Amino acid sequence: MPEGESITDEPSDDQRVVFIDADDTLWENNRWFTRVIEEWVTFVVDLGADGEAALFTLHEEEDRNIPVHGYGARPFVHSLRTAFTRVLGEPTDTTRAAFEAFAQRAELMIREHPIDLLPGVYDGVTALADAGLRLVLLTKGQQDEQTAKFARSTLTHLFASVRVVNEKDAAAYRAAAHAAGASPENCWMVGNSPRSDINPAREIGMRTVHVPHAAPWHRELAPLVNVGPATIVVATFADVPRAILEDPSRRDRGPLLG
Ligand SMILES: [Mg+2]
Repeated sequence: MPEGESITDEPSDDQRVVFIDADDTLWENNRWFTRVIEEWVTFVVDLGADGEAALFTLHEEEDRNIPVHGYGARPFVHSLRTAFTRVLGEPTDTTRAAFEAFAQRAELMIREHPIDLLPGVYDGVTALADAGLRLVLLTKGQQDEQTAKFARSTLTHLFASVRVVNEKDAAAYRAAAHAAGASPENCWMVGNSPRSDINPAREIGMRTVHVPHAAPWHRELAPLVNVGPATIVVATFADVPRAILEDPSRRDRGPLLG
């Protein structure tokens, strides 16, 4: 899968960069997966399967498939398909056809869902851009799917660039900072996921703002790591500009690690 910036501009020296997660930070995303999973469970239960066991199987298939195929609509529907086959054994041609029709609708629903911005996002992102901060959308998943959602978001004019990665780990954050021409201590990461947005960014010394989502994907949950600069936790995106622009630790920086 291609990886890198789809929109680029030249960073100036020593500029502060704010990386911002997309799904469930700027707009609702997990709710569409949740809806599909509920429909999928109903679908297999109607065919005689046990709902709880089916859900467990689906989670196992995601564990297996995500490292190979990544995140997003297509890989997720692939997991629905492999879990469906495991749960139902050898389905009839009619059942298989019904599943494929369901899978097609599910993929479209997730890939092309309306972009519902979360509270405070438009004004919050605008305030960050107006303050002269360089904003980079940093999201994991499929390049085409993520950039299409961004294009539908009404936020494109506020961001300097977009970076889609396969996985958000420390190496991905190092590469993102490097590509933006900024050292990690001049970077912020804003996101809803402790596992993907906060911990790996903290590990390399970035500052972090956690905007928790009310109903996050269970895989994004994790205890915050106790390394690097302390994470600022805010209630909604409306509080992000104040957290970054008035960060008291910037006036008296301690060691970044330890
Ligand atoms: Mg997210």
